[in-house]
Amino acid sequence: MRGTDVELLALVHRSDTAREAYVAGMVPFSAVDGPGNRFVVFLQGCQWDCLVCHNPCSIPVHPPGMRTTPIAEVLAAVRDAAPFLTGVTVTGGEATLQARFIRELFAELAADPVTARLSRFVDSNGDTEPEVWSELAPVTDGVMLDLKALDDEMHVILTGHSNRRVLESITDLAGRGLLHEVRLLLVPGLNDGDDVLRRTAGWLRAVDPHLRLRINAFRREGARACARDLLEPGPEDLARYRATLGASGLRVGPS
Ligand code: SF4
Repeated sequence: MRGTDVELLALVHRSDTAREAYVAGMVPFSAVDGPGNRFVVFLQGCQWDCLVCHNPCSIPVHPPGMRTTPIAEVLAAVRDAAPFLTGVTVTGGEATLQARFIRELFAELAADPVTARLSRFVDSNGDTEPEVWSELAPVTDGVMLDLKALDDEMHVILTGHSNRRVLESITDLAGRGLLHEVRLLLVPGLNDGDDVLRRTAGWLRAVDPHLRLRINAFRREGARACARDLLEPGPEDLARYRATLGASGLRVGPS
C-alpha cells in the first residue's frame, strides 16, 4: 500500500477547502451509477488494492504527470449536461479520500439554479471515518457502498484490509438515512457460499430492513493478471444469489 501518498492526500483534503482534485475521468451520462441518468466523476486514488479490482489504473493516488482538475471545470461540465440528468455521482478509486472536494462540489451544485435539482450521490468502498460522513451528509442525498465480504478474513484476502470500518459505515449511513444501496461483489468459490450469503443478508437486514441490495458479478475484464484465474458467476450462480439473498426479504437488484 502506498501509505505515504494516502496520508498526504488525506492531509491535503482535510485542509479548509479543496477547490481541485485528482480526477481520473468524467462521464456525462451513465445509467449504472445510481438512480436515473447520472453525471459521474471518477476520482483518482484508492487506499485498497483489491484482488478483484476492475479498474486498477484508478488505484495510484497521484500518478506521475496527472494534473489536478479545478472544481470550476467539473461544474461547467455538469451544467452543460444538466438538462438531461437526474443527478451526479462521485466515485473512484475511493471517492472519500478527497472528501473535501466532494463537499465543495456538492455545495456548489446545490447552490447553482441550473444544477440544484440534481441528486448528489457518493459511491464508496466504505473505508472511512464517521467524521467524513458527517462532513458530507448536509450536501449528499445518498451513498452507494460496496461490501466485499462479511467475514473479515475473506475481506482481507480480497482487499488487503479489514472490513471493520466498512461495516461501521453501513450502520452509520443507514442511521442517517443516507444508505441508498449496498453492493455485493460476488466471486464463485470465494464469497458466494449459501451460508455467507444468508448471514450477509441477515446482518444487513438487521441494520435496515428496507435496505436495497445490488449483486455485482465478478468479471475478469479489466482485472489484473493475478485475478484472471478467478471464476465468473454464470446464470445459475446469479439465480442462486438472487434467491438466497432475496429470501431475507431485502430488495435485491440485478447484477
Ligand atoms: S476499493 Fe474499488 S477502486 Fe479500490 S482497489 Fe478495490 S475495487 Fe479497486
